Amino acid sequence: MTIKGGCLCGKVRYEVTGPLFDADHCHCSMCRRQHGAAFSTYAEFNPGDFIWTSGEGLVKVYEALPGGGWCFCSECGSTLAGTDKGKITTVTLGTIEGDPGIKPESHIFVGSKAQWHDIYDDLPQFEERPPNT
Ligand SMILES: [Zn+2]
Ligand SMILES: [Zn+2]
Repeated sequence: MTIKGGCLCGKVRYEVTGPLFDADHCHCSMCRRQHGAAFSTYAEFNPGDFIWTSGEGLVKVYEALPGGGWCFCSECGSTLAGTDKGKITTVTLGTIEGDPGIKPESHIFVGSKAQWHDIYDDLPQFEERPPNT
């Protein structure tokens, strides 16, 4: 299965050539700022399954932490992927077209959740990272 996605202006496009897993809503203050939203939603994939199919030269990486950052389109600002130690390890579900074949499994970093946002679903909530991930 190939999952396709891209940014708002359409210049940056990517494909994930294998299945996604471990999708979570992240409420940490860095994700909230990067997305300008109550939380961000990411999924992981197997190493090597992510490729930029167009606009790679427009992709900028902002590292908020040493080794941890976000890939975004320098034209329109869409946050497309997350990096860990310089490698792309997560993709934002909001930029995927169609059904990603996965749904978020938990809320993480709920300890830093926005005060104006209430969680109304029954997914497990973790103060920070869930154990064993
Ligand atoms: Zn763009
Ligand atoms: Zn986060």
